[in-house]
Amino acid sequence: MANMNPKRNEMPTQSPEERAHNFLEVALGYDEATAIDEAMRCLNCKNSPCVAGCPVNIRIPEFIAKIRECDFEGAYDIISQSSSLPAVCGRVCPQESQCESRCVRGIKGESVGIGRLERFVADWHNAHSEKAPQTSEKNGRRVAIVGSGPSGLTCAGDLAKKGYSVTVFEALHAAGGVLVYGIPEFRLPKAIVQKEVDNLTAMGVEIKTNMVIGKTLTVDELFSMGYEAVFIGSGAGLPRFMGIPGESLKGVYSANEFLTRSNLMKAYKKEPITPIMKGGRVAVVGGGNVAMDAARSALRLGAEKVYIVYRRSMEELPARREEVEHAVEEGIELMLLTNPVEILGYNNPDDKRDARNGFVRAMKCIRMELGEPDARGRRSPVEIEGSEFELLVDTVIMSIGTSPNPLIKMTTAGLDTNSRGGIIVEEGSGATTKDGVFAGGDAVTGAATVISAMGAGKVAARAIDEYISNKK
Ligand code: FAD
Ligand code: SF4
Ligand code: SF4
Repeated sequence: MANMNPKRNEMPTQSPEERAHNFLEVALGYDEATAIDEAMRCLNCKNSPCVAGCPVNIRIPEFIAKIRECDFEGAYDIISQSSSLPAVCGRVCPQESQCESRCVRGIKGESVGIGRLERFVADWHNAHSEKAPQTSEKNGRRVAIVGSGPSGLTCAGDLAKKGYSVTVFEALHAAGGVLVYGIPEFRLPKAIVQKEVDNLTAMGVEIKTNMVIGKTLTVDELFSMGYEAVFIGSGAGLPRFMGIPGESLKGVYSANEFLTRSNLMKAYKKEPITPIMKGGRVAVVGGGNVAMDAARSALRLGAEKVYIVYRRSMEELPARREEVEHAVEEGIELMLLTNPVEILGYNNPDDKRDARNGFVRAMKCIRMELGEPDARGRRSPVEIEGSEFELLVDTVIMSIGTSPNPLIKMTTAGLDTNSRGGIIVEEGSGATTKDGVFAGGDAVTGAATVISAMGAGKVAARAIDEYISNKK
């Protein structure tokens, strides 16, 4: 009998007071009994609309049915046929706008907690399964992957399963892309990503870190080394700034730099090799998930006050609702309909030795109101004349978007990009304008989601297999 409770099972979390001071995971996950109870809410719909909402079409009702039967490993087997990173996606997928937005239980109540169930299954598998990762007989063909984010890791895994010898070239000193340098530990523990990376290496995938393609080696050099195809999954890590005065002051960071220093370089340690400004008053400019992550990280690093400064209203705020609620519960203040116009620094001409000279002192902001809708239907923010004010802060973190880094395009003849710097690919294959080169993920679309990057890695792996198989 189905569980007809209109409300889904709550996700247990650390209390806001506790979690604001540590980097441990906020959401604690369902236990077996709760997962089974939640699985009972699924109606096993014949046409399963939820599946169409998942970018990689996980067979959702089937894996949920296995949970109901207490066959958690069976549930994992079903999910892993479509997704190579279920423990990651179960945590960070924007489920509410994907699979869960199509769930029929959402019509008269709350949708089934599909993401939460996916996370439960993946965590159960990681804790209990001793199955060795699948290895395949090598077919003697070599593929190079540029970037070890979700698109590159997925493409690498799918090709390794087909017998290819795959090498991943990663610019940073650790594999995982945004999953390790961007998304903080309290949302996605690094051990989970490492486990996925370890599975790939156990399958025979070689990962070479500290290799910047376009600098250490070029794409053409990869071909001359014997790789028969190249997949570019280099992401969209180039930060944008506002172009306002004061952005070069000490204490102004891009969100990417701030998060990389915190997540990857362990800037929170007592004597870090790569330090970061901790404590004081922090303003994060922007309203996306990245802004929430930067603000919540700054709080955990010891900030006495953190503001999120966003130029539109709550309705337009692009971050996931759950993340915004968590941020507010932790004490972060949202300053909506507010935009920075200048960052002001200390400049004490009477005392040139004043150690604060050159550092951020405040951010000059202006109040905004919403005007006419723009081309995307969102009402445009308009400045309210004479409403400027100074917000006293010591650190400013710019989180207003990123774009693909042009390095690979600049060093690869024949690789075309669009006006936003995204690599141009053929739909359905990821083939670029250069023979043998495929691309996917944020490097193509600009900043998007983990699951869409993974989906692109899968599509490209199929196309690369076909491309190499058809070669003489
Ligand atoms: P990336 O993950 O960016 O990986 C690209 C890799 O390529 C990086 O490791 C980079 O170092 C490497 N690289 C770059 N240039 C080179 C080069 N020249 N040579 C070699 N290697 C290179 N999405 C969600 O779905 N849910 C979320 O909650 C979420 N939160 C996010 C939070 C933050 C802070 C950020 C920044 C993004 C978030 N995203 C989220 C977006 C998501 O992480 C990305 O869409 C996804 O990681 C893109 O995957 P990718 O493989 O295309 O690229
Ligand atoms: Fe939903 Fe994401 Fe899982 Fe697909 S991968 S079923 S969209 S949580
Ligand atoms: Fe279950 Fe909802 Fe999918 Fe129906 S739409 S099969 S209730 S998860």
